[in-house]
Amino acid sequence: MQLPSIGTQKHAEHVKRQLDSAFQAFCAEGVDIHLQERSCGKMHFLDLVTVDGDTSAPAALTKKVRGQVATALSEVILDHLEEEIARRIVHEGYNHFPRDEYSSLLESVTEELHGEGKGYGLVDRSSRRLFVAQHLKEYLETHDQVNLEGFVRFRLKEYTGEIEEAVDRAVDSYMMEKEYGEFIRLLRYFVETQEPRADEVNVIVSADGQFWLADAQGQKVKSSHLDELVIEMVDGDIEYEDVLMSNLITMAPSSVVIHRPEGGEIPGTYIETIKSVFGDRVKTCFGCSLCGHSARKKGF
Ligand SMILES: [Zn+2]
Repeated sequence: MQLPSIGTQKHAEHVKRQLDSAFQAFCAEGVDIHLQERSCGKMHFLDLVTVDGDTSAPAALTKKVRGQVATALSEVILDHLEEEIARRIVHEGYNHFPRDEYSSLLESVTEELHGEGKGYGLVDRSSRRLFVAQHLKEYLETHDQVNLEGFVRFRLKEYTGEIEEAVDRAVDSYMMEKEYGEFIRLLRYFVETQEPRADEVNVIVSADGQFWLADAQGQKVKSSHLDELVIEMVDGDIEYEDVLMSNLITMAPSSVVIHRPEGGEIPGTYIETIKSVFGDRVKTCFGCSLCGHSARKKGF
């Protein structure tokens, strides 16, 4: 049976490195498999041969070798071609981005591709690795030669489609982060330029991440905007937390004290937003009558 031959334009070194470790395992079993290199135009071919230079070997050994080649090539695809494909997609769609934003976007794409176990199908990296290895294995069962880049392009459309989707997800989350950053900058600017309407406001956080506002005397802050906003709240356009947040920002207090829920952990993104907007005006209380479940007793 014929030992496989691998063709590649750009990844001969990566393939050789991967195959070297596979061959070492054969060596330990007393079987000597070598690589013979040849070039044809831009293509590099790596032919697998036995110690005598034969391109054929017993069926059982050939089957084993093909399996190892499938695994080695899937590693090269995941470790090198995947990022290359993603970069090409980003380049085609977002080359007009300013340099720093472009590199942040690439980072976000890399993060998305390396995230594990966040969804179904080929979303996570280990599923993609298995998928690619399985397809290579099946292909090598009926073909003596595989062209690495061509295989990815024409026989792994489902896989390359998944890379496209990963890029889309990364772009979406990058855009959302960027918008959030701009929103925070705007709020921070507002708070910094506003005359404080209160010296101190207390933010009382419950274990489920909800929060309430109280003045320096521990009395619930009443909002003049609350009534007009109630109608919109009923429509579901504005969340209760948004109302409190806008109250807090309108008051632009010189000091914001965050009171922790029972257990000490402060959940929820609103608290992160408060910290980002008010910066060093924020202090965290580590225990007082407003902390923990006592907030409920006070009727907040
Ligand atoms: Zn407290």
